[in-house]
Amino acid sequence: MKSEHDDQKPSVLTMADTGPIDIPAGVDRRAFMMRSALVGAMSVITGCSRTGEAEGVAQAPPVPPPLPVVQLSPELNVVKKSKGPVMTTLDEFYKVGPGPSSSHTIGPMRITYDFYKRCTQLPADQLAKATGIKVHLFGSLSATGKGHGTERAALAGVIGKEPATVEPEFLDGLAANPDQTFQVKLGDKAFPVTLKDIVYDETKGDFKHPNTMTCKLMGGNASLYELEYYSVGGGFIEWKGYEPPKKGQPKYPYATMKELQAHAEKNNLSIAQVVMANEMAVSGKSEEEINAFVDKIHNAMVNIVKAGLKAPTSTLPGPIKLKTKASEVYARAMDDQYEKQRGLGVVAAYALAGSEENARGHLVVTAPTGGSAGVMPALVYVLGEGGRKLPNEKIRDGYLAAAAIGYLCKHNATLSGAEGGCQAEIGVASAMGAALIAQAHDFPPQVVANSAESALEHHLGMTCDPVAGFVQLPCIERCAFGAVKAWTGFMIASNEIPTNRRVDFDTTVAAMALTAKEMNAKYKETSEGGLAVSVTLC
Ligand code: SF4
Repeated sequence: MKSEHDDQKPSVLTMADTGPIDIPAGVDRRAFMMRSALVGAMSVITGCSRTGEAEGVAQAPPVPPPLPVVQLSPELNVVKKSKGPVMTTLDEFYKVGPGPSSSHTIGPMRITYDFYKRCTQLPADQLAKATGIKVHLFGSLSATGKGHGTERAALAGVIGKEPATVEPEFLDGLAANPDQTFQVKLGDKAFPVTLKDIVYDETKGDFKHPNTMTCKLMGGNASLYELEYYSVGGGFIEWKGYEPPKKGQPKYPYATMKELQAHAEKNNLSIAQVVMANEMAVSGKSEEEINAFVDKIHNAMVNIVKAGLKAPTSTLPGPIKLKTKASEVYARAMDDQYEKQRGLGVVAAYALAGSEENARGHLVVTAPTGGSAGVMPALVYVLGEGGRKLPNEKIRDGYLAAAAIGYLCKHNATLSGAEGGCQAEIGVASAMGAALIAQAHDFPPQVVANSAESALEHHLGMTCDPVAGFVQLPCIERCAFGAVKAWTGFMIASNEIPTNRRVDFDTTVAAMALTAKEMNAKYKETSEGGLAVSVTLC
């Protein structure tokens, strides 16, 4: 006898049962068949039915077309500067801008804002002929830009909005009403632009970098002025003919943690003091100016956590229909009934808050990237007004030590999920967070390094597999785990005899670089592997 559930049970189909399947143009046949089979299996497991014209694919997250492996041009500064000592400065590293992605949202907005500023400097007779601005997105920016709000961020930059100060409401309004027209004002000249002026162009081609853009000031159909740009990761940008800004030499040159620690120990300095001395020497800024910048970043991070906690539970943009949870996790953590879970609960809630703000496309600080932007804010907030209430100077020191960890990972491995998987984003953020906690509590350099090592070690091999290309799943919860693991790394390192640690930070960074190199390209932000394939949206 048939049970009432039998009709609802999906039948397990083989490829032969399904009859001929049209394989979409440009899609590898084997990959398509494997994917169809996997999606079918997941439908059986999850009970999510498959409907639509290409059964088994229609309900799966939209997957961008496979991208060719783009060899980075040796002309790019980002490639050249991986030699010699660390020269990165704080304002290059911690950047404020709209989420959800440092390379696909903040970078493109910095690019179009830079182009806008250049246009304002053009001679009046050239500007008199201007009728519009066109922005073309290529490579990965074109393939996955829609899920990252690249076109909205790019348009905001074109009309002269600065990434660090753009109002989240402006970007939300553009998403809700994409047909709006804005005026670009260049000197005496003004002309309209819309989202249609941001063009999703070729995904494949002979690009210098996978994230390539061109910006053109148009006079009718003629280009009056144009420039090719590259969003090279972490919100960093370059352009054709880019020359890095002139910098001073670091007072304590280092390219490894071993060298950094040697400077600290020889000169009886903390890691934070070495970083401060180098920052002053390389940037030419005073200690007061540097502290003011760190305070600005700190305020931004604190405001991001507060905004995320205050936001009512809602559904995030995109096809996943993911519900936010920061405010609920926080409310439970603060409920006296669950007092024993409070420490863990608030760290997780703060990280979710920051990460959900990123997913909303609101302001974030790259630390080191947009996807991982919930980790550091959670920890600075818990060390400060949201928890331990450490003095501001201690938290500032923490930012400096955390920056050193990020610099070294960038210098000797990567900070990009597209290059190294999620170990390079959440793993590095967690390592930075562990160093922040240790430094803010005045632990010596070896403990700072060991804390970071421990946190990074336990993210090695973590893949980047964002479902449907949106920085939400697994990214948001991953920030909570990254923050908790940072605290675990610190607890382990601060409780053991520092010299007993058998793995040093540089060794773990080398392992991350090697793992990144050998990681299958499917697990590097292409949405072609892992959760991005196994999750069935229904
Ligand atoms: S999975 Fe990790 S690396 Fe990939 S987008 Fe999400 S946070 Fe970034």
